[in-house]
Amino acid sequence: AGRLAIGSLDILCLKREAAIGLIRSAISRGLKTDIAICNAHTLVTAFEDPDYAQTLNKMVLLNDGIGADLAARFLHGTRFPENLNGTDLIPALLEEIGLPLRIYLLGAAPAALAEARAAIGERFPDHRIVGSCDGYFSSTESDRICAEISALRPDLLLVAMGNPKQERFIVQNRPFLDATVTIGVGALFDFLSG
Ligand code: UDP
Repeated sequence: AGRLAIGSLDILCLKREAAIGLIRSAISRGLKTDIAICNAHTLVTAFEDPDYAQTLNKMVLLNDGIGADLAARFLHGTRFPENLNGTDLIPALLEEIGLPLRIYLLGAAPAALAEARAAIGERFPDHRIVGSCDGYFSSTESDRICAEISALRPDLLLVAMGNPKQERFIVQNRPFLDATVTIGVGALFDFLSG
């Protein structure tokens, strides 16, 4: 697929269906893949913090929203093929992937997480939520949480702790996370619970 460089980030140029295809293929082949969906806030944070940019560059990057399109317009005179904001992409993924998934939800406050878990279970009964944990744990609990996730071997780990926190968590803990695909999903659980 084509890519567009926004600062030091290489963002894939994919339509929604192709992004879903990439995730489907990673899961069916057991290929560990980490995905960050970059909005204006992600891009600005990465621009100001090279360490975060380095973290993001270890992931597969997708574009989210008008900020990414504006940057593509100014820097390259083009735009991304489709807006891949997570609140649309993840429900579409769960709807269209065509494989029953084992999903782990990590992030958000306990009440929002519980509501999101119930909402996903109800809307997407083909998939199974194998576990969940809220996103307000201390760094000393991180190893235990990674071990819990790994024991469940989810196909899909959705991490909803905002950026840069969610991407740092994914990349720092990747060696200890036995999940096939991870995606940083920002405020998705609040959105689904609302
Ligand atoms: N969040 C979390 N742990 C934290 C900070 C935030 O789980 O330490 C959750 C927060 O509850 C919300 C989500 O991260 O559900 C996204 O937060 P925010 O709106 O700040 O992120 P953005 O969508 O702008 O990336």
